[in-house]
Amino acid sequence: MKDILDLTKTELQELLISCGEKPYRAKQIFTWLHERRVSSFDGMTDISKGLRSYLASDYVPGALELREVQASKADGTRKYLFALQDDNCIESVFMRYRDWNTACISSQVGCAMGCRFCASTVGGCVRDLTAGEMAEQIYAMEADTGENISNVVIMGSGEPLLNYRNLMRFIDIISDPSGKGISRRNITVSTCGIVPAIYDLAREGGEDEHMQINLALSLHAPNDEKRRKLMPVALKYPLAEVMEAMKHYFDRTHRRLTFEYALVSGENDTAEDAKELAGLLRSIGAAGNGALVNLIPVNPVRESGLVRPTREACEAFKNKLENFGINGSIRRELGSDIDGACGQLRMRRGAGADRTRREEA
Ligand code: SF4
Repeated sequence: MKDILDLTKTELQELLISCGEKPYRAKQIFTWLHERRVSSFDGMTDISKGLRSYLASDYVPGALELREVQASKADGTRKYLFALQDDNCIESVFMRYRDWNTACISSQVGCAMGCRFCASTVGGCVRDLTAGEMAEQIYAMEADTGENISNVVIMGSGEPLLNYRNLMRFIDIISDPSGKGISRRNITVSTCGIVPAIYDLAREGGEDEHMQINLALSLHAPNDEKRRKLMPVALKYPLAEVMEAMKHYFDRTHRRLTFEYALVSGENDTAEDAKELAGLLRSIGAAGNGALVNLIPVNPVRESGLVRPTREACEAFKNKLENFGINGSIRRELGSDIDGACGQLRMRRGAGADRTRREEA
């Protein structure tokens, strides 16, 4: 069965027109699905019985199944393992901040990018998620917590820019005011640096408009040599090209750029590294445009052999960056008492690791 949550409002309208229905029904049905979250077509009380049965013969209103939740006693972070219709599993994280809640969602089952510090990549990429599967992660977490999610980061398993079309459709669905209506300014896409897709993203919305979404780069090293050791994608896209693309995104959208930097003891956390990183960021004007470096003490993955620096070393790195005019922040360690790092829960459960795997870079 097809998942009707995967259709944008425009696609839903086309479907309804093709079966002789009035176009305005699309908005009604979209609201039932994405705002009121009915679990069956029968719940759509202002839709004719005939249309409800027609839809039910081909579609299901969502197919995500909650398999496991780990709740942090320390800070309210909740980590989820969901099963998809084909029994593959994905992870999502609910993060509670003082004034809002953020969902960190996956964009693929597994990931092909091979970053050394990341558990999501251990079994490679199994498949892309559909737009509906991305949206459902948010709905399922809201249903479980009973709380509103206002911010979304696409920073879970997968490289979202390698699932570009579904990512765009997901953003269309989740920001549609007839449904969940999340502000695009509250959506952040995190990439490991797929250069052509960063330019595509900057072009979205046409000449005078742009998508308003935030872009984060998984940077993790101050130069190509060190980056290649941590992230195989650096073999394909050198830092000069990646940083130029990021600058282009900022020039076009004026959305604040974020640079994710996993601090690994002895690999990228020295004073010299901080100086070089600051120079790299200053070369694209990041000192004056409010860009932020998110410093993440690496979460040790058994397979990687990487070591987490001390709190003092992280502070020293941040201070050094700030001395060069670069904003840095050490990420609050949410959910440190649960399987916090991306991909760890799925890996420990051995879930979905051996379905039709797709390797790409
Ligand atoms: S950090 Fe992101 S891009 Fe790298 S392997 Fe993990 S999920 Fe993939």
